[in-house]
Amino acid sequence: QHAASALDQFSGEELYEPAYSEPPKGTQSHRTDTFVREAFQVLDYPERLQKLLLTPQRELHVELNITRDNGEIEIFNAYRVQHDNSRGPFKGGFRFHPNVSMDDVRSLASLTTWKTAVVDVPFGGAKGGVRCDPKDLTEAELERITRKLVQALKDCVGPDRDIPGPEISAGSKVMSWWFDEYSKYKGFSPACVTGKPMTLHGSYGREYATGRGVVLATRELLRNEHMGKIAGKTFVIQQGFGNVGGWAAELLELYGGKVIAVSDRTGAIYNPEGLDIRSLKRHIKAQPPFGGHMSSFPGGERLAIEELLTMPCDVFIPAAVPDVITEEVATKLNCKYVVEAANGPTTPEGDKALRERGIVVLPDVYANGGGVIVSFFEWVQNQQTFRWEEEEVNRRLDRKMTDAFERIWDVHTTQKLPLRTAAYVLALRSVTQATMIRGFD
Ligand code: GLU
Repeated sequence: QHAASALDQFSGEELYEPAYSEPPKGTQSHRTDTFVREAFQVLDYPERLQKLLLTPQRELHVELNITRDNGEIEIFNAYRVQHDNSRGPFKGGFRFHPNVSMDDVRSLASLTTWKTAVVDVPFGGAKGGVRCDPKDLTEAELERITRKLVQALKDCVGPDRDIPGPEISAGSKVMSWWFDEYSKYKGFSPACVTGKPMTLHGSYGREYATGRGVVLATRELLRNEHMGKIAGKTFVIQQGFGNVGGWAAELLELYGGKVIAVSDRTGAIYNPEGLDIRSLKRHIKAQPPFGGHMSSFPGGERLAIEELLTMPCDVFIPAAVPDVITEEVATKLNCKYVVEAANGPTTPEGDKALRERGIVVLPDVYANGGGVIVSFFEWVQNQQTFRWEEEEVNRRLDRKMTDAFERIWDVHTTQKLPLRTAAYVLALRSVTQATMIRGFD
């Protein structure tokens, strides 16, 4: 009888959350959605389409029980958000970071959907993360975490479903373990993950692809702004001398640019004549007392990380973590251009302040797309069981980056929109078309 009366009162509503609810203000997903909504307004798409495109298709949360080297058991939370696959299989990196949350991963998955559309590779968008501090883990522990992750997710991922790739603290070693573990369950599957090493079905040019893409994007921006070439221009790279920032710096130097200041977690350094990037890299790789820290590099003056923000330069490049260009930072920057090598480095308030100051921003969804472009090339090579020459990879990357820039520039100039909004307009059009053509039933 109790059950019957409970049923009478049951309307169903309270059990189910609505399919879409706007993420609360202050969250990372809200910030990403704000940029997307701006483009929606230009396109004047119906509200229900906005909801459809903003709602992730699937969110997975798994717990990974790992035996630490000391015999203790520890549990790590891991997330995978598959945002949209209308244009192709889900694609996106897996980040290992102590602050990773479902919200971060959700916003980065959405960002990847728009990125793959902007640079026109036939993938959807996903992102993953493991909440852990890789600095506190041994390599063996990291390997066990990666293998457990594959065990937990193996039926939701795969070469035609969802293809992880490199991200913060997840380089070619993690990708190798992923490939090996997945292949144990499903048979030999090199295309199940990208960013693998050259000796294990990787692609030429993938390691430096994101950095190279950032440089190609900068080249196109300067050219179209009638600013001339990279040679002789000054660059500041903030918070990130890892895979993306490090390669971008080296290639900028190769093109004759002057990288005058860089920072990482340990400090910042400055040299008005341009830092010698290769010796800086060697210095960071070396062990103390011969190196190890950016701040002890002899080829530059030490700088407080905040001073880096006011350093006059042509191009400012945030290259690692999100939300560094807040409204306050945006008022301090002393550059003509911001090229977003990191994902989500500028908050909507920061973006507005930059616009008001006439600082042109080349957005993440385009500027750091080189990584996922060459990931696509790696996937294609794996499907073909054939390896392309390094020149071919680089030539095709150049072509993709240049073509995407032209499309963005066209919307930017004809519709008088900031480059970020122009990029989102293109992405939304492309994802919407794929969604509509596929149909709903
Ligand atoms: N982590 C890179 C990005 O944010 C690329 C991921 C991939 O290649 O799948 O674009």
